[in-house]
Amino acid sequence: MAKFFEYQGKEIFKESGIPIPEGMVVKTPEDARRTAEKLGRPVVVKAQVWAGGRGKSGAVKFADTPEEAEAAAKAILGMKVKGLEVKQVLVEEKLDIAQEFYAGGIINSAQEVRGPVLMFSPEGGMDIESVPEDKIALMNVDVIKGIMPYDTLNLVSSMGVKGKNLRQIADVVFKLFKAFQKMDCRTLEINPLVLTNDGKVLAADCRMAVDDQALFRHPELGIKIGREFLKEPTEFYLIAWSFEESDFRGTSYVAQMAEPEEVAKGGYVGYHGIGGGAAMLGMDALNKVDLKVADYADTSGNPTASKVYRVVKLIMGIPGIEGYFLAGFMMANQEQWHHAHGIVKALREELPKKPGFPVVLLLCGNKEKESQEILKEGLAGLDARIEIYDREHVYDAKFIGGRLKTLVDEYRKERLVS
Ligand code: GDP
Ligand code: MN
Repeated sequence: MAKFFEYQGKEIFKESGIPIPEGMVVKTPEDARRTAEKLGRPVVVKAQVWAGGRGKSGAVKFADTPEEAEAAAKAILGMKVKGLEVKQVLVEEKLDIAQEFYAGGIINSAQEVRGPVLMFSPEGGMDIESVPEDKIALMNVDVIKGIMPYDTLNLVSSMGVKGKNLRQIADVVFKLFKAFQKMDCRTLEINPLVLTNDGKVLAADCRMAVDDQALFRHPELGIKIGREFLKEPTEFYLIAWSFEESDFRGTSYVAQMAEPEEVAKGGYVGYHGIGGGAAMLGMDALNKVDLKVADYADTSGNPTASKVYRVVKLIMGIPGIEGYFLAGFMMANQEQWHHAHGIVKALREELPKKPGFPVVLLLCGNKEKESQEILKEGLAGLDARIEIYDREHVYDAKFIGGRLKTLVDEYRKERLVS
């Protein structure tokens, strides 16, 4: 799920007509001071990270003066909240809170629901998971019919909210659902939804996550990869994602496991597993012989030869790797000749650039005999150290890892001499 910072979600709220506190996101303590000066009243300084519970971890601080805002920002910027570094803070007018509510929309994928659920609770401010069930009003939404204003009036009033507050809050919940739908959210939460002492209702926080499968409908969000990421994606990731984004036949998951400077120091191989569990087994085999992986790749779910080909090309292009390992530690229920074809084509193109390069291939499962023939015939006569294994060795991770290690050592020695 593509996650968003609080300030980004609040921009969506603003566009949707949901009132939000006045404020600005900044990157330095000085800018925090200037923002507080401009607001000219007490402020709250909030860490912008993809994590909740900031209040409890000291990542939300109050400041009565611009100097205090500067100090608060200084304390929060650079701190880690649930392992995530704070690079930006939101400086907002401090609200004079009379009551905190919770409002949210989620997608419930359970068999009985399989659709959006709107939620409202008069107990806001805390984790919704810790609110007693009878204090949360739920409404399953029929996506074809959508909702009418009276639906959210009923939802909010069922929790005992009355009068003017009822109309204001129900209006926010209504708009929340509209925004949820428009943005293809999996989650859109306001916690707390604040009622101030002078009778205003505002969204004091926002948690928003958009469905990865819907990101193509939102180019305005500028998200390059529809997959969960903690860092800005590198070029390697962008290339890997391009194999997935337009071709849904099978999966090719590729991750960068080491910085290029590390790989350049030696001891790394290009890694390619088939199927998650099998791929872990192969990584283990390499660890045991002191080989490190430059990447993690998993092609499974019956990918096409072209998808496999592109993955092998990407792996073989990692500068400084000293071997390529296909870890097919599984009797796959997919037809393995697609793998064989893709691998042969990529290696025939790449190996001539790396004389003597170590290659260990383990491939078994459906169409194993044919796949083995394709590999053996296709890779014959290349100037490389190629070893090809079948089901005889599928339980023999230690042996296979050992073979790769031997070939890598030979290759390294040879290159030192020349
Ligand atoms: P979270 O802990 O990461 O969910 O961060 P929140 O934005 O929800 O802030 C945590 C708590 O700080 C809220 O539940 C409020 O009690 C409090 N808080 C946040 N903004 C304000 C504000 O503007 N005024 C006041 N008085 N309290 C606030
Ligand atoms: Mn919150």
